[in-house]
Amino acid sequence: MWVEGRGHLPGQLIVVSGPSGCGKSTVIRGALGRADLDVQLSVSATTRERRPGERDGVDYYFMDRDGFRGHVDRGEFLEWAEYNANLYGTPSVPVFDALAAGRSVILEIEVRGALQIRHLSPTALFVFIKAPDFRTLERRLRLRGTEDEPAILRRLRKAREELAEAHWYDVQLINDELDPCVQNFIVMLKTYGCGG
Ligand code: 5GP
Repeated sequence: MWVEGRGHLPGQLIVVSGPSGCGKSTVIRGALGRADLDVQLSVSATTRERRPGERDGVDYYFMDRDGFRGHVDRGEFLEWAEYNANLYGTPSVPVFDALAAGRSVILEIEVRGALQIRHLSPTALFVFIKAPDFRTLERRLRLRGTEDEPAILRRLRKAREELAEAHWYDVQLINDELDPCVQNFIVMLKTYGCGG
């Protein structure tokens, strides 16, 4: 694949977006660690509070705003964006290292970050995962139980904004039932050259 400033790299970059509650993390997890795929998930940096069970360096690199700004100033993020008053960014070095070694990398990022990647690498594959409808999305978000009511309402507002961007993604996957959605995602990854 081709990346601005880096030229051709053998690995494939896959960008996955979708509103909170659509199940995108679960779908992605279903494809990781399979012997027939050579893909890894990029670990982002964030200034958001750690949720119960999340591990630093595994789920995210948790940092304060000053630390995050330092990485931005040194040009160490492939993309970054503010989402619900928190900053999120993709550290570039691990992504470039993996792509150079021929591994494929999944970025699970929101739509404004995805747009930055589209400018940087038009040959990346852009996948939008969504729930079958808005009521299902709302129910899933509430069932997750990780956020208070104002945060849920913020995320639902944000979800409407994100759904309005789904049209420019290469592939849209509807996460109605998890297993078929994971299978479709795996088939798609293999089709786009992420097989192991
Ligand atoms: P959460 O706080 O629920 O983990 O993530 C909130 C949103 O930020 C999700 O849509 C997630 O995909 C997105 N996100 C996570 N990491 C990054 C990143 O590195 N860059 C961007 N632009 N968005 C990210």
